[in-house]
Amino acid sequence: MGLKEIRERLAAAETKAGRAPGSVILIAVSKVQPIERVEAVLETGHRIFGENRVQEAAGKWPALMERYPGVELHLIGPLQSNKTRQAVDLFDAIHSVDRIKLAHRLADHAQERGACPDLFIQVNTGEEPQKAGVLPGEADAFVAECRALDLPVRGLMCIPPVDEPPTPHFALLAQIAARNGLTGLSMGMSDDFEEAIALGATHVRVGSAIFGARAYG
Ligand SMILES: *Cc1c(COP(=O)(O)O)cnc(C)c1O
Repeated sequence: MGLKEIRERLAAAETKAGRAPGSVILIAVSKVQPIERVEAVLETGHRIFGENRVQEAAGKWPALMERYPGVELHLIGPLQSNKTRQAVDLFDAIHSVDRIKLAHRLADHAQERGACPDLFIQVNTGEEPQKAGVLPGEADAFVAECRALDLPVRGLMCIPPVDEPPTPHFALLAQIAARNGLTGLSMGMSDDFEEAIALGATHVRVGSAIFGARAYG
């Protein structure tokens, strides 16, 4: 596959869904990928990337950002409270806000810094015990709590259960966003980004279909 094909499929999905061309943001998920593959995608001019670990991102992106100006970095994986400051400094968007303690830390660091990354609240749409995210029934209250802290909540994010069709989860996320007046929907990965776009995704997070398989399971 690769970036070019994914761009074409994304554009086709936008058209099919009646969405404006270029309205869906493609986050190239570069976690664990060899640096040569990341550089190859940067060389094409792509600048929006996703990482799921703060530590890994902090190790590789500052140097790449010096060489390739204009990079926009999204944190799409879990954020430990003790890494919040580092995350606020490094990332332009955080897609994994899922508990009040983290929201408070983000608000504190954003205030110190005078700026806050765009935030997405992760919703555990499948109500899976091992998975991060607020439960669907708690989402409205959590959105309100984040807004009360003046946090820039742009939207919601979900990772559907691996063993279920994703579309009901995308539809549920869109419904929760709509009733909370949120326009951002971070949903859809390599195997299902077209379905996510059909259901309103504004940000798709595509890794292996762009870069190739990751070296771990
Ligand atoms: C790894 C990851 C992705 C990308 O997964 P692919 O299947 O490689 O496209 C998307 N979202 C999150 C949260 C991830 O951790």
